[in-house]
Amino acid sequence: MSAPQYRITLLPGDGIGPEIMAVAVDVLKTVGRQLNIGFEFVEALIGGAAIDATGVPLPEDTLEKCRQSDAVLLAAIGGYKWDTLPSHLRPEAGLLGLRSGLKLFANLRPAQIFPQLIDASPLKREVVEGVDIMVVRELTGGIYFGQPKGIFATETGERRGVNTMAYTESEIDRIGRVAFETARKRRGKLCSVDKANVLEVSQLWRDRITKLAAEYPDIELSHLYVDNTAMQLVRNPKQFDTIVTGNLFGDILSDEAAMLTGSIGMLPSASLGSSGLGVFEPVHGSAPDIAGQDKANPLAQVLSAAMMLRYGLQQPAAADKIERAVSQVLERGDRTGDIMSANTNLVGCRAMGDALIEVLEGK
Ligand code: NAD
Repeated sequence: MSAPQYRITLLPGDGIGPEIMAVAVDVLKTVGRQLNIGFEFVEALIGGAAIDATGVPLPEDTLEKCRQSDAVLLAAIGGYKWDTLPSHLRPEAGLLGLRSGLKLFANLRPAQIFPQLIDASPLKREVVEGVDIMVVRELTGGIYFGQPKGIFATETGERRGVNTMAYTESEIDRIGRVAFETARKRRGKLCSVDKANVLEVSQLWRDRITKLAAEYPDIELSHLYVDNTAMQLVRNPKQFDTIVTGNLFGDILSDEAAMLTGSIGMLPSASLGSSGLGVFEPVHGSAPDIAGQDKANPLAQVLSAAMMLRYGLQQPAAADKIERAVSQVLERGDRTGDIMSANTNLVGCRAMGDALIEVLEGK
């Protein structure tokens, strides 16, 4: 069988973006060589870097390169320099344009505790030890986009703010399918989160997810109200494997779940569309305060590359290899400043990259 060959568009963006991206690319090249997976890397501009070069945060050329690739690996965008531009010309507009341009509707946010970093969690060791959760959030529907929306004058002259939480059956089914497939790649448990005791939109959500379950008899499905989920995530987070929910609930719960880990420099994410093309990026921003100083933690970026292999390119063995390497460097005691604790070695971004290559090569 000939070696698989993938075209990856790299969007290093701003701030620490280029530094952490360089580490992720080195790791991908090493794993690709070891497992006979070919990568062709194509770089493109986004965010502030694109504004400086072309005047807009998402040049058409960038979107086109992304569309023609098998996956997109993004670092981060933004910085003080562009903060005063009008909102449609700010770096963030590049990110939103990318998501809508590629029709990305599913956001996957893992919250996994590395045993070596348990002390960074705000919760007790016995509560968080072994936590490994994936929140699958619907990204393009629900109350953020439902119509009508706006602030309207009433007959009494008082103003009334309106947003509408709405989901069609097909919107629920497509995010549901991503969630069932995701649970299948994990421990086979899916918890659907809604507010079906109060909201009709949630009753439809629950009805469709329950019907979909017939197509996935190997997945154990449960349902939970969102208020209870918020409690359970801090009371007993280990009960969760994969969670699927709508845009608003997912926005809140994915941040809550992420905080269980306590370290932003370790959190990857994925946004997927129906064509199979996805964007993989760290949860953190461009950290302009430490940019260019070789202080950034590249591990969220490296773990984003692992997510790309698992959820974008269907190469789970390569993803496993990278995730194991991250665990091994932490085991060696190597830490960037953001995850430093007593009796560990402080390393910079580049040295963390070197350490990853060393463990991958078995040195
Ligand atoms: P941030 O995530 O960039 O930084 C928050 C804090 O965490 C900073 O002290 C930073 O030094 C630290 N940090 C973040 N990532 C780190 C890493 N990998 N290693 C070590 N330390 C790390 O958030 P912010 O300061 O609110 O925003 C900075 C810029 O990033 C802004 O322009 C914002 O708009 C942008 N931003 C972009 C994204 C994205 O690209 N998806 C997300 C959030 C913020």
